Amino acid sequence: MRITFCGASHEVTGSCYFVETKDKKIVVDCGMFQGGDYNEGKNFDAFPFHPKEVNAVLVTHAHLDHVGRLPKLVKEGFGGRIYGTEGTLELTRLVLEDASVVMQDDNRKFGKPLLYNDTDIAQTVALFHGVNYHETVDLGGGVTAIFKDSGHIFGASFIEISADGQRVGFSGDIGNVNVPILKDTEALSPLDCLLVESTYGDRVHEDETTRRDTILRLVEEGAQRGGTIMVPAFSIERTQEFLYELHKLQEHEHRLPDMPIFLDSPLAINATEVFKKHREYYDTEAAHEIMLGDDFLNFPQLHVTRTREESKMINTVPGPKMVIAGAGMMNGGRILHHAIRYVPDRNSTLIIVGYQAQGTLGRRLYEGARMVKIMGEEIPVHCTVKAIGALSAHGDQKKIVDWVGSAGPAGAGAPKKVFCTHGEPHAATELAHRIRDRYGVETFVPEFGDVVEI
Ligand SMILES: [Zn+2]
Repeated sequence: MRITFCGASHEVTGSCYFVETKDKKIVVDCGMFQGGDYNEGKNFDAFPFHPKEVNAVLVTHAHLDHVGRLPKLVKEGFGGRIYGTEGTLELTRLVLEDASVVMQDDNRKFGKPLLYNDTDIAQTVALFHGVNYHETVDLGGGVTAIFKDSGHIFGASFIEISADGQRVGFSGDIGNVNVPILKDTEALSPLDCLLVESTYGDRVHEDETTRRDTILRLVEEGAQRGGTIMVPAFSIERTQEFLYELHKLQEHEHRLPDMPIFLDSPLAINATEVFKKHREYYDTEAAHEIMLGDDFLNFPQLHVTRTREESKMINTVPGPKMVIAGAGMMNGGRILHHAIRYVPDRNSTLIIVGYQAQGTLGRRLYEGARMVKIMGEEIPVHCTVKAIGALSAHGDQKKIVDWVGSAGPAGAGAPKKVFCTHGEPHAATELAHRIRDRYGVETFVPEFGDVVEI
């Protein structure tokens, strides 16, 4: 088996791996590069393989950096099946349609080129083929794949491919520990080789048991300042988890400060409907609450603003108030309209709840920039900026290192070769060292375009 690294190598975005077996050519994930003009420009580069020759595509989960180039692949000639869990594929359609709206906006306002159009998306969706967790998917030519729950976002999987007498795992993204709503990450099967994400390969998150208290503290402080609490949220999963925690604080513990909370993201609103439909993905606690009739994605303080007009109305509501809006890394979306208004406001607060890629506005604010450019305007930063690591959708170093060996007892389960991808160079390298030291296996940090024989 031969693997070519076509993205997420020495960086977090653009996940894409080209797998060649004796008889088949398979692509695992086909994500968009994100963060800054240089990175976004890479989306227009030719794939390092011929889309027409690819037999099948497997997708781990519905984040844009894992599915965002699928319509380009189809536009350029791919016509096989695209496999994913039902949840992943339903969310992927929403994510691609949302990305298309953003692209058309950027095209109109800034003359940026379009990567694909709505017809390409419709043709992509027509190739979707839903699978269940643990089902053995026969890709022909003696190649099979199994999707297992990665606990990262709704419907997310890691994928194990068997071909030519080898078994290779693709982690996709691995979830944090004890995430609300979702089940925990499943154990790996014994593998010969593993490609593992390393987003937080050099970091250990704060204790997740204090997650709800941390949120409450930041929200209380923000409410006391009296302004707007901005939460740039990834519309899929993080938003729903954040709402789940807010719901607990309000309905169960009666501790949430009294203020309106606006969910200002059409994608998040649509994704929430998918969450309500696919309850088979819920963990025991979430499933139990739903059985008791407790709709945790709906509570009195929460206002959903679907249209642009409703979104604009938020400005007229006096503080304190909270606005949850995409995009999660502030590289587009409605959050920018709130940011331009409230980032210069001393009474307002920005709560960062997820990974911020290099080159994004969220990253610059997270790193303490005093001036930032928002929609072409230079804006001084006067609001308070806070971050919560425990809300991350990604496992930290400890979680990932443990997971790599999860196929067997204490160290016996690690694959012989481990490739650390989907992380900035320092994070990927640090994770590679940890895995090597713990299990005594070979580890690598591949570069874009590297080809390896397994
Ligand atoms: Zn992800």
